This record gives sequence, structure tokens and C-alpha cells, in this order.
Amino acid sequence: MQYETGPAELALREHIKHPPNKPTADGSFLRISNITTCDRKQVFDGMGVPRIEAGPNAVNGFVAKEIGNTMHEHVQAAFNEKVPNFECEVEVSISNCLTSGHADGVYQASHDMPSRREGTVLEIKTMRNYGFRKARNEGPKEEHLFQACAYAIATGSTKIHLVYICTDATPSRWKDSARAGDMVEWLYDIHDSFDESGTSISVATTYFLEQHAQMAKNYLVNGHIPEGLRLYWGTAEEIPWECNYCPYYDICEQQGDINMTDVIDLVIKETDESVK
Ligand code: SF4
Repeated sequence: MQYETGPAELALREHIKHPPNKPTADGSFLRISNITTCDRKQVFDGMGVPRIEAGPNAVNGFVAKEIGNTMHEHVQAAFNEKVPNFECEVEVSISNCLTSGHADGVYQASHDMPSRREGTVLEIKTMRNYGFRKARNEGPKEEHLFQACAYAIATGSTKIHLVYICTDATPSRWKDSARAGDMVEWLYDIHDSFDESGTSISVATTYFLEQHAQMAKNYLVNGHIPEGLRLYWGTAEEIPWECNYCPYYDICEQQGDINMTDVIDLVIKETDESVK
């Protein structure tokens, strides 16, 4: 017989339902990897609201994350072995913007002048074939450029090296197909412009960092939770796709207007339940 939903899947769903909240690199309220993420989600994350990974995509998301972690480790190990001066998992802090994170790596490229301190930030991303093929044709995602650029600003680097790895296959009869293990890479100077307006990657990144810092300060001073993408729930035909994959979806669905005291109550309640 074939199970509709087997005991292993049910057990795994329960096992991954309450992932631990990872602390930020230096204890900052914000994390660099959330750059361009929904403001509301950033506040929940900063407050340590327990994440709930449930729903139809939970196991798929978990598997994607595990594959991503494994491929990160392999590429970092390869760089460690082959690239001189490669530093792995570099902790970075941008304290005036209340944020911190870990760059996958920083290295001195062979074309860098030996006397210059500027290095290259390595940022690795794994993704399914649709996103991979889109990026291969159109270029990397803006949020990945900004995240890597923030690491570059914090480490005094001027270049960013983005590596995308495809984790699954499209049918080979498709003209533009991709297989698991296909890779595409880009090297940018952070002063390069990234759109037609001529705005440089570093200027756009600084704008996001400062905007998020201001948002976080507003929250910490007056306790007002930003609407974030929830603003569009009543106006758009469908809720933003990011919300469907968000570990705080239940909170946004059940509690529209929410303030700092509600969030603190939630942290206490959910923490109690998740440790039972
Ligand atoms: S569910 Fe949507 S609106 Fe709510 S925190 Fe997540 S991303 Fe933001």
C-alpha cells in the first residue's frame, strides 16, 4: 500500500516545525541577510518571535535549505583548498545600521594589487531551476547583490563574487534547461551601476541599510510594528508570494494590528509551547 501522507513525513513535519531562532552575528537587532526583506518580518525576527515552519511547503523549504547548506560547505572547502588568503565565514558588523551577518568568504583575487587591502566577497546561493535559469539570462537578484555589497562595505572590500548553483533539473526537451549542479558566476565592483538610472550597487545598498535602521529605531522607540508586506493583503488580488513562505504567516493572518506588548506576549507563549 502507498501512504497518502506517511509516518516519516508526518514525523519530519513535526521535527522541523519549530526551528531554533539563530542569533545574529554580533547580537544586532537586524541581520544583513534580511536586506530587502519585509520590514514586519525583520521586526519579528529581531524580537526573537518563534518561527513556525508548517504548511504545504515546509518540508520542501527544509530540503532546499539543507541542500543549500551542504553546497555552501563544499564550495567553501574548495576555496579554502585552492584560493590563497581565503577567509571563510567572515563575521561582519555595521553597528550604526543595527545589523550584522556572516559573509560566505572573503579572498584576495589574483588580479588585486598585492599592496591594496581591497578583497573580494564570495557569496554563494543555491536555487531551483526556474530562479537559476532566470538569473542566468537576466543577471543576479538585486537582494543578493545588496547583501554581498553590505558584506563588502563592512569588510572594506570593493568586489563581490556571486555564485549561483542549480539544485534540480528541468526536462531536457526544454530549450533553456538546467541540471542540478549547473553554476553561473558574476564578479562586480560595488561602484558599478546596477540599473539604468546609474545608481551604484553600494549607494543602493547603503540606502537599504539606512532605511532598515531607521525602521528598527522607530519600532524600538515607539513600539509600532510596521505593516510591511501586510499592507498589500487587502489591496492585491493575491497576497505577496513571500508571505506564503514566511514563518510568521500565522501571526499576520490572525493578528492584523499588533504592538510591542503583543509581540512580547507571543514570544513568551510560543516559546513555552515549543519547549513542551
Ligand atoms: S507574512 Fe508577509 S507581511 Fe507577515 S511578516 Fe511575513 S512577509 Fe511580512
